[in-house]
Amino acid sequence: MDYIEPHAHMVSRSTDDYEKMALAGCRAICEPAFWAGFDRSSPEGFRDYYRQLTDYEPKRAAKFGIPHFCWLCINPKEAEDAGFAREVMALIPDFIDSPTVLGIGEIGLNKNTRNELAIFEEHVQLALDHDLAILIHTPHLEDKLKGTRLTIDALANFPKLDRNRVIIDHVEEHTVDLVLDAGYWAGMTLYPESKCTLSRAVDILETHEGDRLWLNSACDWGVSDPLAVVKCGLEMRKRKHADEAIHRILFDNPKRFLSQCPNFRLD
Ligand SMILES: [Zn+2]
Repeated sequence: MDYIEPHAHMVSRSTDDYEKMALAGCRAICEPAFWAGFDRSSPEGFRDYYRQLTDYEPKRAAKFGIPHFCWLCINPKEAEDAGFAREVMALIPDFIDSPTVLGIGEIGLNKNTRNELAIFEEHVQLALDHDLAILIHTPHLEDKLKGTRLTIDALANFPKLDRNRVIIDHVEEHTVDLVLDAGYWAGMTLYPESKCTLSRAVDILETHEGDRLWLNSACDWGVSDPLAVVKCGLEMRKRKHADEAIHRILFDNPKRFLSQCPNFRLD
């Protein structure tokens, strides 16, 4: 079944995973900048990471006929040291004109600290200055509800922000309405253990109109499944969702959001 993977950390996946995704019907992969599983020792380490995201991964994906796009930022987990974060952010303009960059992400909060919030707001301003879309990470477990509220409150201080070009990711049952009601897009991240399982995601889809929702697998270095999005399509089919409804959530919705980014294209 045709689908778009709008949030995948392919730098931590094998080439076999690209092949599996291509075989499963993946038509585009979007990769937000993110934590490597360990803190980088210098801001310059991010220069190589951005090269990997903008140059190497698109080539690796192209071998399987999949266009690969990316989002740039310093992730919230490494934003607590604001001086370090600002040095990294100063590198971003060197890469922003790369032909596969979609916008700024995944920014946001991790432990909901003051420094994280400051760096988050500076990223939002960077996106506004360059007229770019934004992808936002929300915290895990006990920090999620508070962090999602803080995120939405912080965004309200940017009256020029086009909310239709902002996606707030990793929503769950208790945060999805906060995000949608404020006029943003919402992403559900399908994880085997934490975040949203396949059946919980389908439960949410069955109780929401869903025209500003997308699904992603995140598939990072932790326990995660690069085929989770298409498996969710299968779960929908088992529950007798119509093919058009499945196509809408797996393909049309991410395409509609991403088409607002000038560099996005489908081969
Ligand atoms: Zn992520």
